[in-house]
Amino acid sequence: MPRKCTVCGHPKRREIDRLLIQGGTIRGIAKQFRLNSNAVHRHKQGHLPVKLKEGAKMEEDKQSGNLWGELTGLRARAYAIRHYEATMPELFEAE
Ligand SMILES: [Zn+2]
Repeated sequence: MPRKCTVCGHPKRREIDRLLIQGGTIRGIAKQFRLNSNAVHRHKQGHLPVKLKEGAKMEEDKQSGNLWGELTGLRARAYAIRHYEATMPELFEAE
């Protein structure tokens, strides 16, 4: 079987990838770019570059006011607090 991906060969592939990564629906993207939804689905499953996914993630962070970074920070603090609770309970004793 020839492996020809209409999405990979699409002039707006970057935009399509971006939309896919940002959670656009296969059907919607296929319609928007006049692609076959099966092709978009297959492309999403097998052809999306990981680095682009990461890049989109970072961009998303910027757009959302670095919410992910904030969450990661909060989680780290939660872990730290739990750690201190376990190792230095006196710090957390209520008066
Ligand atoms: Zn592809």
